Amino acid sequence: MNLQALAPWACDPRRSRGRRLAEAASPPRNEHQRDRDRIVHSNAFRRLVYKTQVFLNHEGDLFRTRLTHSLEVAQLGRSAARALRLNEDLVEALALAHDLGHTPFGHAGQDALHACMQAHGGFEHNLQSLRVVDDLEARYAAFDGLNLCFETREGILKHCSRRNAERLVAAEPEHPARRFLVGQQPSLEAQLVNLVDELAYSTHDIDDGVRSGLVTMAQVSTVPLFAHHRAEVLAQHPALADKPGKRLLFETLRRMLSGLLGDLIAHTQAAVDEHRVADVDEVRRAPPLARLSPDARAACEELKRFLFAQLYRHPQVMESTARGRQVVSELFEAYRAAPGEMPEDFAAADDPARAVADYIAGMTDRFALREHHRLTGRRLFG
Ligand code: MG
Repeated sequence: MNLQALAPWACDPRRSRGRRLAEAASPPRNEHQRDRDRIVHSNAFRRLVYKTQVFLNHEGDLFRTRLTHSLEVAQLGRSAARALRLNEDLVEALALAHDLGHTPFGHAGQDALHACMQAHGGFEHNLQSLRVVDDLEARYAAFDGLNLCFETREGILKHCSRRNAERLVAAEPEHPARRFLVGQQPSLEAQLVNLVDELAYSTHDIDDGVRSGLVTMAQVSTVPLFAHHRAEVLAQHPALADKPGKRLLFETLRRMLSGLLGDLIAHTQAAVDEHRVADVDEVRRAPPLARLSPDARAACEELKRFLFAQLYRHPQVMESTARGRQVVSELFEAYRAAPGEMPEDFAAADDPARAVADYIAGMTDRFALREHHRLTGRRLFG
């Protein structure tokens, strides 16, 4: 990344707000490149390969996992960041870290853990991602966590309840959660990663949904955005209609995704121009600037409604998520009753409920299943 080419409103690593614990520079890397490297070498990052996005890890080898999803978000994010003259290294770091705090079994696991933690402050996966990089990774001699830059921590904390924000700011006045108390946006790099995450999963979940057989091409073709690109592909390549395989699906999704990304780049640039932001602090005070056009936004919402109704609520998906939820709740009860079943650093923690949540949240799908079987003697998945 050429630092001279950065837009004035981009996060410049030479003007970072710094790390919680000051460290000497590590040339030739800039500070956000260094953050990206620390994320890639973390334990939590490696576990993403065995964590679920929609389909459980053992359901098929070709489906997205949180790792491949994160790589797709990084690819799309870097492309858009380069076009918008934003900080590509920071975007990549944020994309690779954005799902680090996810529990096993996707959203189901998270909901279950949040319910278990009701009396102990709840469980928020964005906050957990930050907890992983701020506290839980134990790789460095001089500090807990990865000691990342403010801008990276700010981007990782996408959402945060007011109650948690107040608690975090009380302990660290300049904590990135402060923006939730004063109603500010994060950097444009962070806003971009959020939006690109949404484009990535909306597109690849269609892909996985059709390949799993849970959703048909005919069903997806009722979504206008998909139908539009499919018609365009067939007009140029009529033979694809009768070809076996999924080439028509892939080509349609490829065009759909690049159309959305192009729209995002154009409309984000227009918003930046319109609001005449001079630097990243003005970005933070402005309304959200990373955006799609109203038409693309509406088309994207329609796509998400389709996915929700036809895939995320599909009986087969609902059944495995219900079991995932049960695994997480039963693990929580088992470790609460017998903390000694956890590794020593979790068993001896000051806040026993939070330690159980941290331990479970870090698990991969298959490790959670193994532990569940070991502790309960039952197998909830074939
Ligand atoms: Mg994501």
